[in-house]
Amino acid sequence: MNHIINARLRGRPGLFTLYWLDGLISAIEPQEGTLPKPEATSDGLDAGGKLVIPPLVEPHIHLDAALTAGEPRWNLSGTLFEGIERWAERKALVTCEDTKSRAHRTIRMLAAHGIQHVRSHVDVTEPGLGTLKAMLEVREEARPLIDLQIVAFPQEGIESYANGRALISEAVAMGADVVGGIPHFENTRDQGVSSIHFLLDLAERHNRLVDVHCDETDDPHSRFLEVLAEVTRVHGMGARVTASHTTAMGSYDNAYCSKLFRVLKQAGLSFISCPTESIHLQGRFDSYPKRRGLTRVPELDRAGLNVCFAQDSIVDPWYPLGNGNILRILDAGLHICHMLGYEDLQRGLDFVTEHSAKAMALGERYGIEVGRPANMVLLSADSDYEVLRTQGHALVSIRHGKVIMRRAQAEVAWEQESA
Ligand SMILES: [Zn+2]
Repeated sequence: MNHIINARLRGRPGLFTLYWLDGLISAIEPQEGTLPKPEATSDGLDAGGKLVIPPLVEPHIHLDAALTAGEPRWNLSGTLFEGIERWAERKALVTCEDTKSRAHRTIRMLAAHGIQHVRSHVDVTEPGLGTLKAMLEVREEARPLIDLQIVAFPQEGIESYANGRALISEAVAMGADVVGGIPHFENTRDQGVSSIHFLLDLAERHNRLVDVHCDETDDPHSRFLEVLAEVTRVHGMGARVTASHTTAMGSYDNAYCSKLFRVLKQAGLSFISCPTESIHLQGRFDSYPKRRGLTRVPELDRAGLNVCFAQDSIVDPWYPLGNGNILRILDAGLHICHMLGYEDLQRGLDFVTEHSAKAMALGERYGIEVGRPANMVLLSADSDYEVLRTQGHALVSIRHGKVIMRRAQAEVAWEQESA
């Protein structure tokens, strides 16, 4: 296959034919009208007037914990804290083969929904770093389906965990792409602050990206985001730094946020919200009224900051559901964040495509442009709005010019003619 006809592209009127050569997009030609369906033997695919977009992106997931829910026990309360207890039990049973097999099965679930770029956090608070070694192998083995960024994620802290600094430094030396952190989980505020200085310094010295689990709590006094943003500004690393979760922002008062947003804009960092996971795990100390436990997604977006959605977990001790479908997360996120206004519905896919690619610093490796990789996805509807309204799907996923996934669209048959 070397071209697609009758493709609709986001933000451009009319239909297009896209050509590729040697895995790169070679031409994007506007059509006069709809072209006839090609012969079955043709080298082309007929998009039928539906959307062709760059691949969907999963910018925040924990592949090393995926597909472990219920092993050995289920998280019965559904809280983040019981999740940590259940994970400690499961972690004792982890082997290299177990990690790799679950990660590959989960990657296939993501790729089945048109995702080709994934950022996975990997726990590096583990003497020996066996899980990281396994996931670095997965990064290479999974290349036919996805590009994988690995975050060295200090699940139990950098400062409060024994040898935390040495372990995360070793993880970077072994080849982790991104430096992580978890300042709100460190034992004291001082440790949280020093962990941020340490991790940004580490990332700058080794030319790595940064993605911090930041203020993933309803505690309005958890204010590490201001520190992360300010240190990012001082280092001039805004394009390379992401704050994940920042759910405490949903509990900050507006006066504090008006000051905070000034710092965020100066820093220019990106944000990732995991709406299904956050609405499940947060608000657990509330009776009623009950907080939603999400960061301020529309406010960040309106302030010109880059914000996107992610799944976080698939069937693990923190979240029992999930099937790899990022469009399901988009649907939930827009609902939970009060973003079903007309304008948001016209551009909803931004939050699972372009914005996520920006957070992952994919640059010219992403996008429907001549000279970029021929990675693209055919969706089941012709606009962002119709994809959302119909709960649409990825029908075909093309990677480096080759079809890697096809999905047959479900059809409804009526027993009787309509009246
Ligand atoms: Zn996470």
